[in-house]
Amino acid sequence: MAATQPITALDLAPYNIKKIASGKVREIFELDSFTLLFVATDRISAYDVILTNGIPGKGELLTQLSAQWFSLITSKLPSLRNHLVGTDVPDVLKGTDVESALRGRSMQVRRYEIVPLESIVRGYITGSAWKEYQQHGTVHGTSVPAGLQESQRFEKALWTPSTKAEAGEHDENISPDRAAELVGPKVAKKIEEVSLAVYELARDYAAERGIIIADTKFEFGLIPETGEVVLVDEVLTPDSSRFWPKEKYEVGKGQESFDKQFLRDWLVREGLKGKEGVEMSGEVVAETGRRYREAFGRLFGG
Ligand code: ATP
Ligand code: MG
Repeated sequence: MAATQPITALDLAPYNIKKIASGKVREIFELDSFTLLFVATDRISAYDVILTNGIPGKGELLTQLSAQWFSLITSKLPSLRNHLVGTDVPDVLKGTDVESALRGRSMQVRRYEIVPLESIVRGYITGSAWKEYQQHGTVHGTSVPAGLQESQRFEKALWTPSTKAEAGEHDENISPDRAAELVGPKVAKKIEEVSLAVYELARDYAAERGIIIADTKFEFGLIPETGEVVLVDEVLTPDSSRFWPKEKYEVGKGQESFDKQFLRDWLVREGLKGKEGVEMSGEVVAETGRRYREAFGRLFGG
């Protein structure tokens, strides 16, 4: 049933609402020329492949998590605007067949011109940054102190942007200097400052609640007339960030993912890593759902 497990493509064409994109997890519609509708489905991906069944409740949790973060960020950094208009089902869809499928998992947002950078902030050295560091002693081309261990916390979080690749292509890690060339020095500097400030407040908030946010990715819109940058997309979810359970953190090795570890371990164990068309077992669905609910509960209660 669509209402409980909408992982298949959602069609709002019968309501004259055009779909403009379908990502691994979210579907994006155009409500009018100023407003987009983001719908987070229950789809989940691991090792770059989308599983054929979903995690009931995941889309709603991710939507509510972003909304909670937006509100916390605004309370701490009131000068930073974000794109969220609200999480209500749009009026034109109220009372329709799709209303229940959209409830809780949709976000109406103001539409902006997007700055073509993935604004990544890294608080801990892991993933592609750890690989580069082992090979060259740098992170996104910038030198960092020698002798770091895997998963070690950086003394100061690093802004490590990447390009925003077209669908199917891979993002490329770039240096802050290269980012300034791509989007202009003023915009790049502003995005760097704001990204670090948001990451630091979220990292500290989450750490007090038992979650390490190792790194995260933001996106920004731009108001061309004023040069102001606006925080857009989803923020600080396990889909856009690495969440680690604090109680299991140990420097010198790779860390467990708070949300996806159970699924990843199962895929590896069953020889299904990277394979298309895989259906998760009931246990994997249940355990993974439990992790997402726990992450939300630790951060914002409930
Ligand atoms: P993936 O599933 O790998 O994340 P994706 O990034 O193409 O793929 P989504 O994350 O679902 O898929 O797509 C969201 C898109 O919407 C991004 O291209 C993002 O830049 C864009 N976007 C986010 N917020 C806004 C906004 N306020 N105005 C315009 N575009 C936005
Ligand atoms: Mg995306």
